[in-house]
Amino acid sequence: MLVDSYKHKGMRKNLVEILSQKGISDKAVLDAINKVPRHFFLENAFEAHAYEDKAFPIGNGQTISQPYTVAFQTQCLQIKKNDKVLEIGTGSGYQTSILLELGADVYSIEYVKELYDKTKYFLNFLGYKTNLYNGDGTLGLSKYAPYDKIIVTAGAPTVPDTLIEQLKINGILIIPVGNREKQSMVKLTKVSENQLVKETYENFSFVPLVGKNGW
Ligand code: SAH
Repeated sequence: MLVDSYKHKGMRKNLVEILSQKGISDKAVLDAINKVPRHFFLENAFEAHAYEDKAFPIGNGQTISQPYTVAFQTQCLQIKKNDKVLEIGTGSGYQTSILLELGADVYSIEYVKELYDKTKYFLNFLGYKTNLYNGDGTLGLSKYAPYDKIIVTAGAPTVPDTLIEQLKINGILIIPVGNREKQSMVKLTKVSENQLVKETYENFSFVPLVGKNGW
């Protein structure tokens, strides 16, 4: 049974406080973190730790991202209600639910079939309206392109051109790029058809992005 107790709510509020001290300033993002019961997305063994600012295993060798990382990537995207967002690496669905809470129209791709099946069932169970796909997100999802925002939640060797192509003018792509252990967070804003503005933030660590344009 899934219970969101006062204790959980209290720990969540505390987590929000920690994230705000670490520099997350977007009120809407902090509100979304405060709303979504992260412990629902973790296996029982980790429940007591759900509101620590840490990544945890979600099975199939994958992890649920650290709350700071989720908040940071989401803040970079400057989500507006009804933004069409492509997410690559659905994983546990936690990041997906944060985007949904912000009013985004989310399309999310997961490579691992078992995780896709599990998360599709679970997000529906929680009452979220989702568009989840099982496949290689490095190819994007041309059927619904272009997107206002694209978020990649696994570490890439380079920025896949396909994703830039599937971004709207003034759209934002946020993607960790680096080696298999450490990545920089790259934020690209597509200011015109062939011009990108790049910002980089150091020191993130994701599981590898696999697939055709991945590792
Ligand atoms: N946002 C997720 C993070 C999961 S970890 C969460 O909050 O739980 C990253 C996920 O990316 C893993 O589930 C992994 O299987 C997936 N992944 C890796 N390469 C991928 C690809 N090419 N396409 C889609 N998903 C991919």
